[in-house]
Amino acid sequence: MKKAFILLVTMALAFVLAACGDSSESGTIGISMPTQSSERWIADGNNMVEQFEELGYETNLQYAEDVIENQIDQIENMITRGVDALVIAAIDGEALTEVLDLAASMDIPVIAYDRLIRGSEHVSYYATFDNFQVGVLKGEYIEKSLGLAEGNGPFNIELFAGSPDDNNAYFFFDGSMSVLQPYIDNGQLVVQSGQTDFQQIATLRWDGSAAQERMDNLLSGFYTDKTLDAVLSPYDGISIGIISSLKGVGYGSADLPMPVVTGQDAERPSIVSIIAGEQTQTIFKDTRELAAKAVDMVDSILKGEEAEVNDTETYDNGVKVVPSYLLAPTSVDITNYKEVLVGSGYYDESDFEE
Ligand code: BGC
Repeated sequence: MKKAFILLVTMALAFVLAACGDSSESGTIGISMPTQSSERWIADGNNMVEQFEELGYETNLQYAEDVIENQIDQIENMITRGVDALVIAAIDGEALTEVLDLAASMDIPVIAYDRLIRGSEHVSYYATFDNFQVGVLKGEYIEKSLGLAEGNGPFNIELFAGSPDDNNAYFFFDGSMSVLQPYIDNGQLVVQSGQTDFQQIATLRWDGSAAQERMDNLLSGFYTDKTLDAVLSPYDGISIGIISSLKGVGYGSADLPMPVVTGQDAERPSIVSIIAGEQTQTIFKDTRELAAKAVDMVDSILKGEEAEVNDTETYDNGVKVVPSYLLAPTSVDITNYKEVLVGSGYYDESDFEE
């Protein structure tokens, strides 16, 4: 009798909680993003909110400011509040196994957004860009800028990679090295520091100031009597750190021009830097398109349909190959930023005025 009463009270409580929690007719979607310290993730979050709301969904958008425990707490909280689906861009792709078990126990489907979630079978789909191709575009940009295919060189280059807990970082690096490694092997590119292994050049949490510090050390350790011609940088925030360091020792003048510096995300400060002749290239990944893919995946699942994918081989998360949709990245520099970024309505020209 007592047990039945407790059960009844629990059920009533669950009902009340669900009623005051996240609910709407179509459903509520939990969106867990890594950080607001980078503009791209702010755009991703806003684009998803907008697009989910257009379809009649409610959203619960949270940023974890690059603290893994925050992200896990936020996702747990979304699950407790009864979201109908989760879209997650992981801070650490290996850290979400348990919280995804919890989501699965409540039948909440999970979409991995931009970054693969590893070590869990409970990832329905993965929406991302062709991450290997992102790396290739950077490698090819350096190849073309230095005239490597024409046999020019030797040139000095230093390599930076992204966060070792982000699966994408390996894809970016491998893509770039698929172009650059032959030129390192034949001596047209020289890495004076000798630091070419992923673990040596990785940048935990994609931290621009850590990259700046590493660049300071490289410059003082290996370039006091040599000139640096190119820097492979995986992300705009890292590029900005690298450029500060380079400027600190006089690069960016007529006597000592800036090396070729790549980047990624077409963030505003980097476009401003490209216009100023400092950063050389970035990779534009249209977050409106990525959001649309994730929204479509969630909507399909909740309607009991299959979502559109275009890759069922590349993204093995250690437990399963996650069906993915890969969008195409675009290389951007001074010659095409207006056409690509302003022309597509992603930015206004005035966004680049300081
Ligand atoms: C994303 C990149 C981004 C990086 C740092 C990666 O997972 O794919 O677009 O530059 O994280 O935020």
